[in-house]
Amino acid sequence: MKRFFVITLAILSLNLCFAQSQQRENLKKDVYFLSSDSLEGRWRGTHGNALAREYICSQLSEANIEYSIQNFNDTLGKNIITQIKAENPLYKDEYILIGAHYDHIGFRKGEICNGADDNASGSAVLIQLARLLNVNKDKINRNIVLVWFDFEEGGLVGSREFAQNPMFVSSLSDIKLMINLDMVGWYKNGALEIANVAMVKGWKEIFESTKTDLKTKVSKYEKSVFTDSDYSSFAKKDIPAITLTTGTDSPYHKPEDDADLIDYEGMDRICDFVFNLTVNASNYKDLGFSGKKADKHKDERSKFEFGLSFALGSCNQYYHSGNITGKNGRTLNSGFMFLYNINPWQGLELGVLANMEQSKQVEGKFQAMKLSVPLTWNLGYFGTDVGIGFNLGLAYDYIFKAQLNEVDLKQGEFNPYDIGFVCGFKFIFGKVGLNMSNKFGFLDRYNKDVKITYRETLFGLTYYF
Ligand SMILES: [Zn+2]
Repeated sequence: MKRFFVITLAILSLNLCFAQSQQRENLKKDVYFLSSDSLEGRWRGTHGNALAREYICSQLSEANIEYSIQNFNDTLGKNIITQIKAENPLYKDEYILIGAHYDHIGFRKGEICNGADDNASGSAVLIQLARLLNVNKDKINRNIVLVWFDFEEGGLVGSREFAQNPMFVSSLSDIKLMINLDMVGWYKNGALEIANVAMVKGWKEIFESTKTDLKTKVSKYEKSVFTDSDYSSFAKKDIPAITLTTGTDSPYHKPEDDADLIDYEGMDRICDFVFNLTVNASNYKDLGFSGKKADKHKDERSKFEFGLSFALGSCNQYYHSGNITGKNGRTLNSGFMFLYNINPWQGLELGVLANMEQSKQVEGKFQAMKLSVPLTWNLGYFGTDVGIGFNLGLAYDYIFKAQLNEVDLKQGEFNPYDIGFVCGFKFIFGKVGLNMSNKFGFLDRYNKDVKITYRETLFGLTYYF
C-alpha cells in the first residue's frame, strides 16, 4: 500500500513537472517560430506577417479552439480573435479581454528585426493562455475574449479597430477588464511591470488574491507619453485596461531582439500569473471601471491648467534710427502660467512672470527687474499627450528696478511701462510644454532723440499640474 502511494505520488509530481515543462516548451517553440528569420519581422501586410497569423491560428485549431479574423484598413490589417466561453458563468454577459500584438517592424537598415520580445513573447503567452483557459472553463465566471492584434507598430491600429468594432461582445462596455501583454520575455534581470491599475475597480483585492512569487512593479498609470501599447485604445474608451511588460531592456526595435535571448522560465511564470489573475478577476463581483484614468487617455486636456514656467534667452534694446545698435544681452524669467483650453485647437494663456534683463546699450550695461504679463492665443493641436502650435498675443511689462552701469536709475530717467507684441511656437509632451517666443516692445524706453525699444527671444519650459 505504502509503495503504491509512493509510486502514485511520483507519477503525480512527474505529471506536474511534465505539465510545467510542457508549458515552457510550448512558449519556447512558439517564440522561436514567430521570431524566426523566415517571418521577416512580421510587418503588417507582408508574407511573414501572414505566416505568423497562420501559425497562431494553427495552434488554436490544434487545441480545438475556433477563431475569427477581423479585417481592417482594406484587409491590410488582420486581428485574430477567439472566445473562451465560461462553462457556467455567474456574469454571463460580461467579458475579460486579453490582447497581444503579433506584428513587428520588419526590416531596419536592411536587417531583419525578429521581434522575439516585441511581441512574439506576448503572442506566445496569449496562445498558451488560450490553451489553459480552454481546459479550465469551469473555473471562470466571465467569458474571455483573446485578441492577437495586428498593426500595433505605427499607430495601435488593430486595437483601435477592435475597440470601434468589437467582436463576440455585444457592446464594448461589456468588457470589464482588458489585459495587454507587450514584451514579456525579459523577466531575467528585472520585474514584471503592471501599469494602469488605477482604472480597475477592485484591483487590490484581485491582485492580492493572485499569489505569485514573481517580482512585480505595479503602477497606477503608465507614465511615459512617448511609448504606448494596445491597452490605450481601450483605456481611452473607459474600458479598464492594464498593460504587462518586463520592460525595455531587450534590444527594442533592433535586429538583435532574438529568441535565444528570451527568458522562458520567466515567461512560464508570467503565463501562470496571468492565468490566475484572469480567473480571479472573472470571479470578482464588481469588476469594472473605477472612474479614474490617466490624463493621456482623456479625450481632451483639462479646461484649466496651471503651470510653473522657466525661460532663458537673449534680449536687446533696439535703436530705431541711425547706425547705433545695442548689443545682445541675456534675459530670464520664471513664474506662473494659467492656461484655458477652449478646445484641442486653441487656448488662451496668461503668464505672471518675474523677469531679469541684462542688455547692453551704447551708454553701457543696462539691468532691469520686471514684472511681465503676457497674454497669448495658442493655435494648433494640443492633445492630452502631444501638442504643437503657435501663439501670438500681447505682453505688459513693468520695470520696478533699473540700473545703468550698476547705478540705479531714477523715475523719469526711463519709462517703466512697456506693451509688446508676442509670438512664437509651442510644443507639448504630456505635462511638459516647450516654447520659443519673441517679444517686440512698442514703447520708447528713454524718450531721447532716438527711439529705443525692447526685444527678446526666449526658450522656455513649463510644467503643467
Ligand atoms: Zn510592442
